[in-house]
Amino acid sequence: MNAINPSPRVAAPLALLAELTHRCPLQCPYCANPLQLERAAAELDTATWLRVLDEAAELGVLQVHFSGGEPCARKDLLDLVRRAAERGLYSNLITSGVTLDAAGLAALAAAGLDHVQLSFQDAEAASADRIGGYRGGHARKLAVAPLIRDAGLPLTANFVVHRQNLARLPDMLALGEELGASRIEIAHVQYYGWALKNRDALMPTRRQLDEANAAVEAAQARLRGRITVDYVVPDYYAALPKACMGGWAQRLINITPAGLALPCHAAETLAGFAFPSVRSHSLAAIWRDDPGFVRFRGTAWMPEPCRSCDRQEIDWGGCRCQAFAMTGDAAATDPACALSPHHHLMAEAIAESDNAAANLVYRRLRAPEPAA
Ligand code: SF4
Ligand code: SF4
Repeated sequence: MNAINPSPRVAAPLALLAELTHRCPLQCPYCANPLQLERAAAELDTATWLRVLDEAAELGVLQVHFSGGEPCARKDLLDLVRRAAERGLYSNLITSGVTLDAAGLAALAAAGLDHVQLSFQDAEAASADRIGGYRGGHARKLAVAPLIRDAGLPLTANFVVHRQNLARLPDMLALGEELGASRIEIAHVQYYGWALKNRDALMPTRRQLDEANAAVEAAQARLRGRITVDYVVPDYYAALPKACMGGWAQRLINITPAGLALPCHAAETLAGFAFPSVRSHSLAAIWRDDPGFVRFRGTAWMPEPCRSCDRQEIDWGGCRCQAFAMTGDAAATDPACALSPHHHLMAEAIAESDNAAANLVYRRLRAPEPAA
């Protein structure tokens, strides 16, 4: 694959998404991890992660998100958090919370952790445990949320919403408030990885979406000045695409558990791309020169209708991974855009999901067999 952009001068990434591991006690069917999960033996060692954090700080990165899988499954998490703090990186732990306790949180806070994002599968225990595939998980999350606050760490309560839990969206907003979250994130499922596999079972109906929009708007008005309510809308009902990742290779660099550097967490799904490894390349060289990073950076790569559109530096042509997943062409205009010649695929996917009685396929180490 050849770069078509000249290597442009590029600002440093704002954030590093460090996917420390794919190990996780939960099995969410909407997980953004790839279908082929990495085993523990393939994970980067501590020394390499420490070097990556050093390089990120030198490159000008401001924030590191420790993610997974479940980042708490890594025994060296404290060392990594400590190094991030030493290098002046703002650190956020993105966790299911089910393995955290007061001592562990105090140690993380002492090591310099700045923030915790705790994920919930629902506001109602039986449904949450069913969706996460982990019995007792919801109760553990309810117990751990106050411990996060007690450790002096700001809390974001994250709820991933979809057809099977949207009826309880008002309860989720109330739960976030009750738990003392400083931020509540309501995120509609984005259809990559396991979520794409489960699209028919997770896609909301139009009516659910309208009700959700109204509930979030009301909560944003009611909680203004006290709690920030972030809302990630579903692409399939949109007329305009989102500025995915703030533009390809412009804001974020993602490192997989095995060390691949990606411009976005779903970029491994793109056929024909060979993304580099931090085992053999520096973060600075990858960010500046790697053909996969340069390929869709900026606007020079854009086809029509993006090429002559005045939103090209607002949404950057939308999501490359969604364009590839739906059209087979990563350079196509995101089908979420009403101007895309492929926009009809979105409505067709919604119609298909309306007619399907799909079961959830749970995230697990062995990928499901391809459909015959
Ligand atoms: S989405 Fe669920 S399964 Fe995936 S990493 Fe998060 S908690 Fe684990
Ligand atoms: S045509 Fe391209 S740049 Fe214009 S709104 Fe659609 S995706 Fe964005």
